[in-house]
Amino acid sequence: MEVIHTTAWMKQIARDARAKDRVLGLVPTMGALHEGHLSLVREAQKKCSPVVVSIFVNPKQFGPSEDFNKYPRTMDADRAALENLRVEYLFAPPPEEIYPHGFRTAVIVDGLGDRLEGRSRPGHFRGVTTVVLKLFEIVQPRLAFFGRKDAQQARIIRQMTSDLNLDTEIEICPIVREPDGLAFSSRNRYLSNTERRAATALYRALGSLRSEVIAGERDSARLVASMRRVMDAEPGVAIDYAEIVDADTFEPVMSLRKTCYALVAARIGSTRLIDNALIEQSGESFCVTL
Ligand code: AMP
Repeated sequence: MEVIHTTAWMKQIARDARAKDRVLGLVPTMGALHEGHLSLVREAQKKCSPVVVSIFVNPKQFGPSEDFNKYPRTMDADRAALENLRVEYLFAPPPEEIYPHGFRTAVIVDGLGDRLEGRSRPGHFRGVTTVVLKLFEIVQPRLAFFGRKDAQQARIIRQMTSDLNLDTEIEICPIVREPDGLAFSSRNRYLSNTERRAATALYRALGSLRSEVIAGERDSARLVASMRRVMDAEPGVAIDYAEIVDADTFEPVMSLRKTCYALVAARIGSTRLIDNALIEQSGESFCVTL
C-alpha cells in the first residue's frame, strides 16, 4: 500500500489511474478504523480498482466544545488493517495540506442539515461537505462509499453531488454492528465498561420501534415514545433526539410512509452516539432495517 501525504501526489496518482480507464473508488474516513469502515472498503473493492481510503480528522466538522483534540488517532493500526485488505492507496494528508493558510471557502447545502445532527452540532455539515468536496476534487473517484450510520450526512452528500454535477456516484452501505447490536463507531472506545453496556440502549430503542411497526403501529408520536421509553429506562443515557423523518427531506412525518428513518442520538457520559433504522414500505407493510 502506498501512503500519500500531499494533494499534489494524490492528484497525480488519481489522474494516472483515470488515464488507464481504471475505476477509482474512494472511502473517506477519519481513521480509528473499525469493522464499519472496513465494510465500506470491502464494498469498494467489489466495484472499484484502485481503492483510495482517506484518513483525515477534519477540524472543520468539530464544534469548539467537541472532541477534535482527543479524537482517537491510531495510524499504525489503521495502516496495518488496510494493508491486510490489500488496499492500494491510503491518502493521509496533514491539516495544512487540506486547509492551507488563508483558506476561506465553504460548501453549504441548504435545508437538509438544519435539523437533527445539524441542530445539535452547528457548523458540522458545512465542515463535512467542504472536506468531502475537496476530497472528491483531489481524487475524482467514479464511486465514493459512505455508511448509512450517518444517514443525514449521506443524504446531504448525495444532494451536493447532484447539485454540483459531480461525476462521483455515492454508494450508501449498511450499518455494521457489534454482536450486541451497538453500531461500530470510533467514539465507542471512549466508553467505560458501564457506559458500554448502557450504550446498547440506542439499538434496543430501534429494536423496540421495529417490534411496534411489525405489530402494526404507524403513528410517529407513539413510535418515538416507545424509543424514548427504552432510552429513558437506561441510567446514564441522556437523549439528544429521537425522531422519525422522511428519508428524502429529513422533515418529521406524522405517520410512516414510503421511506423514512428513525434516528436517535444520545449522550452516554461525555460520549455522544448516533444510530438509526431504515423504514421502507413494501405493499401494505413496512420493513425496518437496523
Ligand atoms: P468516520 O470515520 O466516522 O467519519 O466514518 C467514515 C465513514 O464510515 C462514514 O461514511 C460513516 O458513515 C461510515 N461508518 C461509520 N461507522 C459505521 C458503521 N458502524 N457501519 C457502517 N458504516 C460506518
